[in-house]
Amino acid sequence: MSALILSTWHFGRIANVTGWPILENGGSALDAVERACAAVEEDPEVTSVGYGGFPDASGEVTLDALIMVAPSRCGAVACLRGFIPAISVARRVMEKTSHVLLVGPKAEEFAAAEGFTRRDLLTDRARRAWEEWKGRQNRQGQTAAEASVASTTADSRSNHDTIGVLAQDAAGNLAGGCSTSGLAFKLPGRVGDSPIIGHGLYVDPDVGAAVGTGHGELIMRVCGTFLIVEEMRQGKLPKDAIRTALQRIADVCHPLPKQQAAFIALRKDGLWAAGALRPAFQVAIRSPTEDDLLAPQIVFWPE
Ligand code: ASP
Repeated sequence: MSALILSTWHFGRIANVTGWPILENGGSALDAVERACAAVEEDPEVTSVGYGGFPDASGEVTLDALIMVAPSRCGAVACLRGFIPAISVARRVMEKTSHVLLVGPKAEEFAAAEGFTRRDLLTDRARRAWEEWKGRQNRQGQTAAEASVASTTADSRSNHDTIGVLAQDAAGNLAGGCSTSGLAFKLPGRVGDSPIIGHGLYVDPDVGAAVGTGHGELIMRVCGTFLIVEEMRQGKLPKDAIRTALQRIADVCHPLPKQQAAFIALRKDGLWAAGALRPAFQVAIRSPTEDDLLAPQIVFWPE
């Protein structure tokens, strides 16, 4: 079986540059997705993931991450402050506990106990962006909730975007990972789709895997990645399974004009597809024969 790694958005290239050599050298899909997500978390230029991620409405950077190889093997953290890679903390949840998800201060205690070092994740650039947003909020006399609604439902191409990675190793094993600082200036306490299995990510070794990005509330309302994997289980092609999820989002969520949702789906035989509600989504692929950043096969509303 030939190995493959697929990652969301233009910064998926950063993920693939780190993840691919692991696969190429016979490493596991699990190691590849963890290191791929971690590389993006560590990059301060990516303002929606890890270090350098834009903060919530109170000015705090909070991270959500999930790693999964099977329904019986997955781990996640949500609302994690001060520790990266969040994806590696999620892996420890998977490997060292009997739980699936740890949140907030207790997740931070777990990370510290596991030997991760606390660090300040707010960069000057992210702080300035938050101060500007806060200034606008004050000038317009909005409450934090009103201002968060406005910013998290706006055209937010620069203030959201999860790194989501799906990989298959030479032995045919699948793994998925995703990590995000969530929607910029979100209401404190808000958790999106990314750290919840079946929402931002789902992997079933008998069928395939799917990962999502975009306005998490859209994806959560339809259990987006679980829906895609279940559609593939019923025999649908990855692109048709994605179309079903996008159609469901369109039907039941009535997305606002600029809201985005996008998915990558990978079937266990290596067939894959990507799709998005609207233009601008990109998928980075690396395999023995391809190294590219591609537009998705499906754009539900091409505009
Ligand atoms: N889905 C993420 C969230 O809602 C953000 C994104 O992928 O754009 O937190």
